[in-house]
Amino acid sequence: MRKITIIGGGQSGLQLAIGLIKAGNSVRVVQNRTAEDIAQGKVMSSQCMFHNSVEHERELGIDFWADTCPPVDGINFQVPAPDGSGNKAIDWTGKLDNSAYSVDQRVKIPAWMAEFERLGGTLTIKDATIADLEHYSRQDDLVIVASGKGDIGRLFERDAEKSPYETPQRALALTYVTGMTPRPEHSAVCFNLIPGVGEYFVFPALTTSGPGEIMVFEGVPGGPMDCWGDVKTPEQHLATSKKILETFLPWEAARCESIELTDDNGILAGRFAPTIRKPIGTLPSGRQVLGLGDAVCLNDPITGQGSNNAAKAAAVYLKRIVAHGDKPFDAAFMQGTFDEFWDYAQWVVSWTNMMLQPPPPFILNIMGTACVEPRLAHRMANGFDDPRDFFPWFADPDAAEAYLSELKAA
Ligand SMILES: Cc1cc2nc3c(=O)[nH]c(=O)nc-3n(C[C@H](O)[C@H](O)[C@H](O)COP(=O)(O)OP(=O)(O)OC[C@H]3O[C@@H](n4cnc5c(N)ncnc54)[C@H](O)[C@@H]3O)c2cc1C
Repeated sequence: MRKITIIGGGQSGLQLAIGLIKAGNSVRVVQNRTAEDIAQGKVMSSQCMFHNSVEHERELGIDFWADTCPPVDGINFQVPAPDGSGNKAIDWTGKLDNSAYSVDQRVKIPAWMAEFERLGGTLTIKDATIADLEHYSRQDDLVIVASGKGDIGRLFERDAEKSPYETPQRALALTYVTGMTPRPEHSAVCFNLIPGVGEYFVFPALTTSGPGEIMVFEGVPGGPMDCWGDVKTPEQHLATSKKILETFLPWEAARCESIELTDDNGILAGRFAPTIRKPIGTLPSGRQVLGLGDAVCLNDPITGQGSNNAAKAAAVYLKRIVAHGDKPFDAAFMQGTFDEFWDYAQWVVSWTNMMLQPPPPFILNIMGTACVEPRLAHRMANGFDDPRDFFPWFADPDAAEAYLSELKAA
């Protein structure tokens, strides 16, 4: 039995903690908010999770919402026509082979905290400091920092080679609502790209009051969708959300005539720079700790991959810790563990960072072709579950041309 402390009980920290407990280890999670604070606090994410990520939850028996969370069955991609006519220049939908789902973290995290304690884990409510990390690393075999965007993650050095952006690339906002008109055919992430302005996506979810929809706004900094600074009240937040749609996306505005906020905390606005950090943090004593999830691999939400990455990282870390037996968790183990995750995550990060740039002509060509080529739409939709499938054809004009010709010929 190994003794392990995890700082931060979010998607990655609690999933790993529950897996480690089930594998017979002694696990402590240090969380800076109580379950009640989280359940009654503000929304934190839109957390749409695709099949492979949900499978990791299922393997641990913690996908408690499989029957109650409304499924997300496809990806719909739309671009408004540049002439301001209110028509669409691009519109395709691909069905997901397996549904995705989004469970409000205000629902999921308190339930997982309770499950972790029920299984015998030690939950400490505390805002962990560097001194605490020293203390835990003296006592335990391994300390993992899964603190998301929390300041303690600055312990890990920014990896400049893997982090092309130094500043936030989007002004972000979330609006959780009820009363939205559903898509007629089947549910989907409706992803709208407004060139030069930003992106808007929306999909069904399970929140604290039951099923609803999550609206996600990604405004290009300084542009017309970077408009949350003067918003002071939940009512103003909802009105601003509707105004954006009325201005740029009339078909989405039409779905929103009767929407209401799920609750006054169903809103969020903020921004952060996507940042990859080196996975080993060295404490003043020289002891080392390992980073996990957003703490070391923080993506812009534009591709909806953060929780998915967190789940996949936790699964890699669990497998490696269990396989390590009684050997010391040294720097080679830590680096090797992150590297195994990075073998996968590098593609997600690269695709996500690409999507933050104005789309080059060959991407517009791919997107346009998907309107008339269902196999392409299907492949792109399912790429959200495993973005490695976007490479090389979504990243390189020659590879894109070769793939599109192959599709035409087939
Ligand atoms: C606007 C927005 C939309 C998003 N949409 C999606 C999406 O659609 N799909 C998707 O997959 N991802 C999405 N994400 C990203 C996703 O929410 C995160 O990537 C994911 O939650 C990361 O999990 P984590 O375990 O690394 O960190 P978190 O879930 O952030 O958990 C970290 C935990 O650590 C705690 N903590 C921090 N510091 C300390 C400390 N010093 N001591 C103790 N505890 C501490 C925090 O309170 C928190 O509970 C979105 C994010 C945002 C901001």
